[in-house]
Amino acid sequence: RKSTVVITGASSGVGLYAAKALAQRGWYVVLACRDLAKAQQAAQAVDIPYNSYTSIHIDLGSLESVRQFVKNFRASGNSIDALVCNAAIYMPLIKEPLRSPEGYELTVTTNHLGHFLLCNLLLEDLKKSSSQPRLVILGTVTHNPDELGGKIPPRPDLGDFQGFAEGFKDPISMIDGKKFEPVKAYKDSKVCNVLTMKELHRRYHESTDIVFSSLYPGCVAETPLFRNHYPLFQKLFPLFQKYITGGYVSQELAGERVAAVVADPEYNQSGVYWSWGNRQKKDGKSFAQKVSPQARDDEKGDRMWELSAKLVGLA
Ligand code: NDP
Repeated sequence: RKSTVVITGASSGVGLYAAKALAQRGWYVVLACRDLAKAQQAAQAVDIPYNSYTSIHIDLGSLESVRQFVKNFRASGNSIDALVCNAAIYMPLIKEPLRSPEGYELTVTTNHLGHFLLCNLLLEDLKKSSSQPRLVILGTVTHNPDELGGKIPPRPDLGDFQGFAEGFKDPISMIDGKKFEPVKAYKDSKVCNVLTMKELHRRYHESTDIVFSSLYPGCVAETPLFRNHYPLFQKLFPLFQKYITGGYVSQELAGERVAAVVADPEYNQSGVYWSWGNRQKKDGKSFAQKVSPQARDDEKGDRMWELSAKLVGLA
């Protein structure tokens, strides 16, 4: 039997190329996407063999849809050996927060709360895997102000989770309960992604043997993640990353890196955040990197867990 991986947001960018790289390694891929026609077209466009994938609908910006996905996935009869939490939105130019059907701010719902619920629900299914299962969550350098790429303001700050504690609905739009800042909302959500990986490891690694990890694949400056930015930014950002910072990574290479963390024997350590560094060196090797002070704070992790569980209806 082929191993099966579920990848969220596999209709473009890193997720799409990770799907391709895993299919090439002999895995069966479930494309968990909000637009199935787009996902299928994308898979065909990058030549993923038609018999090595299927697609199932999920909208991570809706908790109801996440629950429905899990039902549909179980009904499909597929097993699961790995889960990749990859989907994300980045809305740097919006002035007012968008909302999920539940009324929560949409960037944090899509990137963090939806995945938090999905991870919790699929733990049971992952435990049944006949190989050693893995759960991988995409991180990013901008989660970490200790790193060069993370120093540009606004910096992520979860505060004391006042916004979560007060219900995260209008007029609240930020985790720390302060004024809406869309770029900070993205960075906060990515800190929560890393914290979630760390907490999953602390709570479940020993009892389930699931390997929980995260990675920064490099700056994948040409993905559609930046589609909601100024057109001039979209043009100059890849050049800047290629020739000035040296952080640029192609979508193919980023997909390969995700696939390696999902499938290769050398990435079977749990609780680890993998990185290839900020400046890409030819044949550069990956290493286990220290995460940001907020993302390695166990007390913050605990509070994030309790409040997120409440917001998604698990507690
Ligand atoms: P893309 O915008 O190319 O891909 C994002 C994917 O998420 C798309 O498939 C998109 O679907 C999907 N998605 C968005 N919202 C939802 C939703 N509500 N429900 C389901 N799927 C959704 O971005 P990237 O490939 O660049 O980013 C992928 C991951 O990599 C993210 O977690 C990002 O934080 C991380 N990352 C990216 C870096 C970069 O430089 N690009 C650097 C470091 C980390 P659709 O096609 O329908 O829009």
